[in-house]
Amino acid sequence: TSSPLDIPGATPMMAQYIEIKAANPDCLLFYRMGDFYELFFEDAEIASRALGIVLTKRGKHGGADIPMCGVPLERADDYLHRLIALGHRVAVCQQTEDASEAKKRGPKSVVRREVVRLVTPGTLTEDRLLDPTRANLLLAIGRRKVSDSRDAYGLAAVDISTGRFSLSEVDGSELAAAIARHEPREIVLSEAIHADPALAKLWRETSAAVVPLAQGELEPASAERRIREQFGVKTLDGFGAFSRAEIAAAGAVLLYLERTQLGTRVPLSAPSREATGATLAIDAATRANLELTRTLSGERKGSLLDAIDRTVSAGGARLLAEHLAGPLTDLTKIGRRHDAVAFLVREGSLRAQLRDALYAAPDIARALSRVGLGRAGPRDLAALRDGLAAAATIGERLSAEDLPDGLARLSRRLAKADRALADELARALADDLPLNRRDGKFVREGYHAEIDEARLLGQDSRKVIAALQARYAEATGCRTLRIKHNNVLGYYIEVPQAVGEACLKGLMQDFVHRQTMVDAMRFTSVELGELESKIAGASDRVLALESEVFDALSARVSAQADAIADIAEALSGLDVAASHAELAVELAWTRPQIDESLAFAIEGGRHPVVEAALIRAGEPFIANACDLSGDEAGRIRLITGPNMGGKSTFLRQNALIAVLAQMGAFVPASSARLGVVDRLFSRVGAADDLARGHSTFMVEMVETAAILNQATRRSLVVLDEIGRGTATFDGLSIAWACLEHLHDKNGCRALFATHFHELTALSQRLPRLDNATLKVAEDRGEVVFLHEVVPGIAERSYGLQVARLAGLPPSVVARAGAILKGLESSERERPTRRRIEDLPLFASLAAAPPPPPPEPAKPEPDDRLGRLIDAIDPDALTPREALDALYRLKTER
Ligand code: ADP
Repeated sequence: TSSPLDIPGATPMMAQYIEIKAANPDCLLFYRMGDFYELFFEDAEIASRALGIVLTKRGKHGGADIPMCGVPLERADDYLHRLIALGHRVAVCQQTEDASEAKKRGPKSVVRREVVRLVTPGTLTEDRLLDPTRANLLLAIGRRKVSDSRDAYGLAAVDISTGRFSLSEVDGSELAAAIARHEPREIVLSEAIHADPALAKLWRETSAAVVPLAQGELEPASAERRIREQFGVKTLDGFGAFSRAEIAAAGAVLLYLERTQLGTRVPLSAPSREATGATLAIDAATRANLELTRTLSGERKGSLLDAIDRTVSAGGARLLAEHLAGPLTDLTKIGRRHDAVAFLVREGSLRAQLRDALYAAPDIARALSRVGLGRAGPRDLAALRDGLAAAATIGERLSAEDLPDGLARLSRRLAKADRALADELARALADDLPLNRRDGKFVREGYHAEIDEARLLGQDSRKVIAALQARYAEATGCRTLRIKHNNVLGYYIEVPQAVGEACLKGLMQDFVHRQTMVDAMRFTSVELGELESKIAGASDRVLALESEVFDALSARVSAQADAIADIAEALSGLDVAASHAELAVELAWTRPQIDESLAFAIEGGRHPVVEAALIRAGEPFIANACDLSGDEAGRIRLITGPNMGGKSTFLRQNALIAVLAQMGAFVPASSARLGVVDRLFSRVGAADDLARGHSTFMVEMVETAAILNQATRRSLVVLDEIGRGTATFDGLSIAWACLEHLHDKNGCRALFATHFHELTALSQRLPRLDNATLKVAEDRGEVVFLHEVVPGIAERSYGLQVARLAGLPPSVVARAGAILKGLESSERERPTRRRIEDLPLFASLAAAPPPPPPEPAKPEPDDRLGRLIDAIDPDALTPREALDALYRLKTER
């Protein structure tokens, strides 16, 4: 296509289009024409492909056809939704003056149009574009230097669909985990941060849209000014001490909102600030692995969130997801949440009443935000009416109870619900409400005298028309004379052809001929015309008055926006507490005990998702204890056992119990005591990641390195089959070294599942490491997995049995059995060959037993190997270096 930018020769409308498009080059331009949004040129080609709508053409530009496609106004939201989901940004361009005003400027003038809004993934407000159960976050990132080698990052997270605004600062090493926690739809940042090679991977791999902003627009002074203006304050002191990185982030977010909302100030709550370390740090890999909010295949169903969600309101569902994404580390706050749940577990009937009331309460947070942005409809006001009334009722009900602190706080916040506003909305709004305010008919009869009057006038006029029709019928003697209405003629008189002829010849002097049909004629009259304008005037007047009422009500709502937002949050908080309580009662979960120790003592622990699946299949889940408690440092449990024994399930259930406990929920265990966890790591070896072009093994090592570098005494580490992604000895030695590091350096509580049975020897050397295995029974050659975790070492791996269970052809299983026998007997003949302590590398690592005496005639290269090995100081090596060392040794051989 020709470049749309050569305007000469373009029609005036095309010239206008091209100008607006040039100002919004990175957006698809929705250009309003009548009842359609039209897209032109390349936009049309992109949209028609993306939406499967017909590509047509309209006129020519530079000699070539102009491609065009259009979406009807009433379906625009659906199309927007799909384009946004595909990662597009859309500029919505509306007429901003009447056609009549344009005509005044000259016959050829085009109606003025302007972009009124940019629709981007992180700035949505329409219910139809939003998932009710998920926050829709826009995240801005700022940065400050802490030292020459360290940066801190400020995060400003805004959900304009609810007005929530939070700020936090994290260390550079925590940035990825913090972004993963927020799950933003869109990220804005400075060009410098975007271009930083150390962070490139983050921006490449996030599912959010990433928008770099020019450095010049992000000066600290303008950031501060934007914050002051947004919140109408003279200084930022009132908000507490924000770091420079946080201010930069807040400034960037506000700049981006200004740019996308074009002049409409987005109503936001005052930024809440989260202290560093206030939440359990969980990196992206761990989140994915534990399937916290979505499964590995990306669905909500099958995730922990899905398994524990008993909320009954959209706001509650959003808050539950938020709590799950950021479990707490503060014992007081965690205890407060547990107290609330315990109370609602005990008070069953109160819980039921509460949940009924919450279920009936609409999503006032999102309705409120649309009111604030001037995008609300009558149903949003109704949502506020019902939500505020529900809040007042719930507040009254709760105030009669002797509540624990956490619930009392929520209940006090509900008390701020303004009955008067709810009552006013109830008086003002009709029973059946239209979607759009411009449709009218939403003000209740009896609320506004002038509206009632104007409506009556409209109705009266209709009666007058009926009377007029009767009079004309009599005068013409035509019983079938009708007064009708259509959009072209307005009101008109219709008579049969013959009567029409008579009228034309003077039967009715004041009839003015308008149309001749096949067998009828249409007329108007002066009297009818007068009536018509009276009717139109009345309905225009009703619309205008209703609109005034709408604005007045919106203003009253906006005046209390902060209080209403707070009420919405309190309702969500109640819903979450009641959800946890409901779940605890339903599945017999218990209150965990959390303290500052390094305890981790779970009795009768279960995996919430696996258990639910088994229950559905009518099978029992075997509960398992887990104790990793230590005084100075945590213990490590090394788990061996056959495939399908339940290792992964056991590992994950303990990690999930920690997450649940710290988010404030009860846990699937008969008892649980744990010292608060600061970071949680979970990794599975051999997770294929070829799609991203990394070798499986490289990914595994990078992730393992992160754990060894970051885990503290307070951390919980769950490693499943680390080291499997490479040759046996490589993998074994890496797993070995990792375990030693976890034990000696990190001192964390850890669960480590492995296929390398050789590792179980470590329990003799590492005092805080125990072996455990999954019990298996054999029944006439068939293996039966008991899924019970017991102390000790797996005797066999039962690979062949599992293979048979999996349906491998019997001939293959039999052949494998023969091969296995052969291998095992040759092993027996040279028993020392596979003993790990005898491998040269491990001889220098393991204290006992001593290496076998050197053979008399050792060939030359082995001596070199020996020297090389002596030169290695295992404790000083990172896993990566250890790996390199191993490779060096192998090539030397
Ligand atoms: P592994 O990691 O040892 O290969 P998994 O943890 O993947 O084994 O478990 C395999 C299957 O065994 C699970 O899908 C589940 O059906 C069943 N299972 C695991 N743990 C239990 C348990 N505690 N009770 C009952 N069934 C279990």
